[in-house]
Amino acid sequence: MNSETAVRPGRQTWRTLDFTRSEETFLHASGPSFESRDPATGEAVAVIPTSTAADLDDAVGLAREAGATTRWATDGGLRARVLYGFAQALRSRRDELAELLTREQGKTIHESQIELNGSAEMVEYYAGLARAVYGRSTVLGPDVTGVILREPVGVVAVITPWNWPLTLLVRSLAPALAAGNATVVKPASLTSAVSVKALSLLAEQPELPPGVLSVVLGPGATTGDALVGHAGVDMIAFTGETRTGIQVMKRAAEGLRKVALELGGKSPNVVFADADLDKALAGADNAIFTTCGQICTAGSRLLVEEPIVDDFVERLAGNARQLRVGDGLDASTQLGPVISAEQRDKILTYVERGKEEGTLVAGGLALDDDGHRGGLFVSPAIFTDLPPTSSLIREEIFGPVLTVQSFRDEQEAIALANGTEYGLAAGIWTQNLDRAWRVGRAIQAGTIWVNTYHHFYDEAEVGGYKRSGIGRHQGLEGLHEFTETKHLNFDGKPTLW
Ligand code: NDP
Repeated sequence: MNSETAVRPGRQTWRTLDFTRSEETFLHASGPSFESRDPATGEAVAVIPTSTAADLDDAVGLAREAGATTRWATDGGLRARVLYGFAQALRSRRDELAELLTREQGKTIHESQIELNGSAEMVEYYAGLARAVYGRSTVLGPDVTGVILREPVGVVAVITPWNWPLTLLVRSLAPALAAGNATVVKPASLTSAVSVKALSLLAEQPELPPGVLSVVLGPGATTGDALVGHAGVDMIAFTGETRTGIQVMKRAAEGLRKVALELGGKSPNVVFADADLDKALAGADNAIFTTCGQICTAGSRLLVEEPIVDDFVERLAGNARQLRVGDGLDASTQLGPVISAEQRDKILTYVERGKEEGTLVAGGLALDDDGHRGGLFVSPAIFTDLPPTSSLIREEIFGPVLTVQSFRDEQEAIALANGTEYGLAAGIWTQNLDRAWRVGRAIQAGTIWVNTYHHFYDEAEVGGYKRSGIGRHQGLEGLHEFTETKHLNFDGKPTLW
């Protein structure tokens, strides 16, 4: 750590974690190592080994064996106990894991604690459902009964991104396990340490059968690709960029493997003139600047009804200028750093393009003054006057960059909202519930919030329309994604046809 960062509030000296010496049996990584780095300071957080082809074979082989030789697939009570134990362990180690999450990912410590609490809750939800993997039975004729069973798919590969690395890990892993599958996890390289630490709490559950959880590490292009293409994998639950998701789907198609894809977004947040504007303003802020804009459902396109747009933007820009950008470990920070130099440079390239195409009304600067030196900080940016064809409006930037467009009426708002290739989420701000219903039905997205934003519930499904994904996570559908449906047919007086 350099002297600059040593004096920052909330920071203690850090000893780099070394996973190359790990003796954890769930970790299959004997290859060359790399470092994950703290985006607020640049210091090494952990040394991470990568997985070789032999490691992958071991992990997948053990998972296949666990499916065939243990009671995991058939004992819901066992699965519930293991998942509850995992959730309790996440809660009891919350502060330690939250600090590691902030160090490796950059988000504010407050947000990291929210992520830990939410992850534990999600695991608890699926722990409950582990004993409720119900099928149906139905009478199909005078002597015929059909039993519709839900069975585990088999070996599920779980591949996760770095922005909400624990929530998005358990969002796939917990239902996959609850449904009775064995799993091989490949976490995002940038947040490998916090992922492995959290998973070690699952691995240490005394009743978890060996092989039900394995972890492989390394770059997506090699380790991830090899896992997706592995003959022993039956299903891939992938969360990440749309472009990567397409590659994953193509690769999975070679083996006709099932995929669940949670991909990118460019979500519209629509403010009508009759809205409670104070709430809408706070909602617009939260929608784009949570996790420094690095969130798949970020409300990155603000659509505002014409008569109020100028005032609204002025207030929004005033708020954005006040946001405290800094080290996530400092409790007073509201926006942490962005994850990597590559991500920062990509964001700044969009900002430069935006300045040529429209008007930058706030932010958009790389910060490198005393409080920010050594980190990857960008001040929150707001753009107006961009042409509808602008890449800032059409492409996912994944950073603190908001574009604002105005609309004249409901039809134009809907057309603008649906005007990208994505369909992950949207917000609608209005006091007219008839309008909220009409517009909510017309927008093509998996989640539509009315007079709120970014509230997720374990019970409620999420997922993408259009190029934002395939399948659903969370809720009952999120459990059923990880099952095969079998019809077992009983015919008392068989007549052949
Ligand atoms: P990426 O698509 O770059 O990576 C996601 C994961 O896939 C990482 O573990 C990565 O490994 C791995 N990977 C990369 N290439 C391949 C490949 N060819 N085969 C298999 N695995 C591969 O996404 P990011 O990590 O950059 O995350 C940001 C993206 O995720 C954004 O687009 C965001 O919208 C999306 N996202 C979607 C969510 C949703 O619910 N719809 C939720 C959160 C994020 P490595 O880390 O080593 O590169």
